[in-house]
Amino acid sequence: MQIGKRVETGQDLARDGKGPFVSTVTGRVEDISEFQGVDAREYLAITIITEQRDSFDPSLEAIEDFSETKPETLRAAVNRAGSTALSPIIRDPRVWPRVDALIISAMDLDPRSVANQQSFRDNTSEVGTAVELLARTTEALKCTLAVPDNLAGIATGVSIGAAAVVMVPPVYPYGLPEILAKKYGAGLLLHPRDTGFSGNTIVVGLDHALSMVHSLQGGKPMLEKTVTFSTGENGGFRNFRVRIGTPVSELLKMASTEPAAGGKLILNGTMRGYACFSDKQPVTATTESLHVQSPSEGFSFQDTQCTNCGKCNQACPVDLEVNLLGRFSEYGIYDKSRALGAENCIQCGLCAYVCPARRPLVQYITRAKQAIQSGLEEPVGMAEAMECDACGPSCPAIRLFDMGSDTEDSPKEKE
Ligand code: SF4
Ligand code: SF4
Repeated sequence: MQIGKRVETGQDLARDGKGPFVSTVTGRVEDISEFQGVDAREYLAITIITEQRDSFDPSLEAIEDFSETKPETLRAAVNRAGSTALSPIIRDPRVWPRVDALIISAMDLDPRSVANQQSFRDNTSEVGTAVELLARTTEALKCTLAVPDNLAGIATGVSIGAAAVVMVPPVYPYGLPEILAKKYGAGLLLHPRDTGFSGNTIVVGLDHALSMVHSLQGGKPMLEKTVTFSTGENGGFRNFRVRIGTPVSELLKMASTEPAAGGKLILNGTMRGYACFSDKQPVTATTESLHVQSPSEGFSFQDTQCTNCGKCNQACPVDLEVNLLGRFSEYGIYDKSRALGAENCIQCGLCAYVCPARRPLVQYITRAKQAIQSGLEEPVGMAEAMECDACGPSCPAIRLFDMGSDTEDSPKEKE
């Protein structure tokens, strides 16, 4: 790929065959540059000046009847169309020789997102086809459609073959893939590493699944995404159907909104999302929502001591001892963080939300998780941590834990 070159919609732009990296527009390449994502990984951005009309890459072929198509052909087609939802089983079938459970979810991932619910309402007659496509593509042993129980009336009319339908309260965090996998799938894995995969369960959002159907039936790449746009503390929600690759600045124009001075743009939810520091950032196939946060909504954390009130433990949906985990992670005592199951944290944010001391628990635990999984950061020893003049030396819970347990505890496995 070179600057100045023309690309077609659906063309695979991946370098060295590492794909999929599919163009969702037709136009001329204006810039190719690397940037660091919020997860500190390096990404490649290609800026394309678009033409008015799409010219489609002819290598994408339409598949009219999924039931007559081999699963491996469907997997290749889904991958070629630009979906990353099934990447782990497609990239390395030895690691994922079979899928125990598939969940197609009409649940939303954040209290301020209604994208999947809207797709369910608008495309009820196609939900069965989406289930059929994914069940055949993944060859999952068990297939479930998760529907928010406020849409139960619509769900009764849906024909989904052998899949089971489960009604789930539309309350955060019940729609998160990890919670769905734990409750209706094949359980949590000790080290969930890829979004949407927990243990041997695949969770695919309904909006994404329907885009797969349209893409394969039309012989086109995955082109569009429903994104929920919301503003302020009590602002309403609006869904926009936009082309994948659309910059956040265009979404703001469509909504006739600009962030106030001191406000923020939050992508992918107020609970698990992240602040977006450039409005050039594009909508991707996994973008669920954009929230324009007003300065008054800002939630400030403090470096204060834990009071052992226990509220974080009660709120944690994966039953971690967050009060202790937060402290060990704060001081970089990662062997103890690991023993307390830091890698099972799903970063739902509920612990920090309820913490009266406003401790940045998710940040502490996320840092510990990254350090454990990457092996890059040297853990701080207990003795070194105890030299700190902050609350650590006087914390009875840390001392007791250190003296009373030799932490042979194996990492906390969940069902
Ligand atoms: S963010 Fe907090 S509440 Fe959520 S899973 Fe992690 S420790 Fe538990
Ligand atoms: S909610 Fe906050 S103050 Fe209470 S136990 Fe948890 S970390 Fe400590």
